[in-house]
Amino acid sequence: MEKILIVDDDVNLCVVLSEELTEVGYSCFSVNSADEALGLLSQTPIDLILLDLKMPVKDGFDVLRELREKDISAKVIVLTAYADVKGAIESAKMGASDFISKPYDFDELLITIRKVLQKDA
Ligand SMILES: [Mg+2]
Repeated sequence: MEKILIVDDDVNLCVVLSEELTEVGYSCFSVNSADEALGLLSQTPIDLILLDLKMPVKDGFDVLRELREKDISAKVIVLTAYADVKGAIESAKMGASDFISKPYDFDELLITIRKVLQKDA
């Protein structure tokens, strides 16, 4: 079963999205900060990270930077505010595979998740 980690300071989004992804067969973890994400990733192999860009203290860009520094190979789909084109482009340069704007459409997100997970590293 593929493991997905949701990283978003919006607790409600984490709960809802985690339930949705569990229902369609993924093993789901969620955390509400960059530091919690990096802590979990140092202990648990994760296939895909759904990463919010805007979080207090450390943001999504900090997470992308640390993933690279620590050589963590999980794929990343960035969750951006609607029309944050700059954020999407910047995160792609930093290694994100794709992005989805919030509020997300679950079907669209699922298609993107499947596409990204099918690509070989
Ligand atoms: Mg946020």
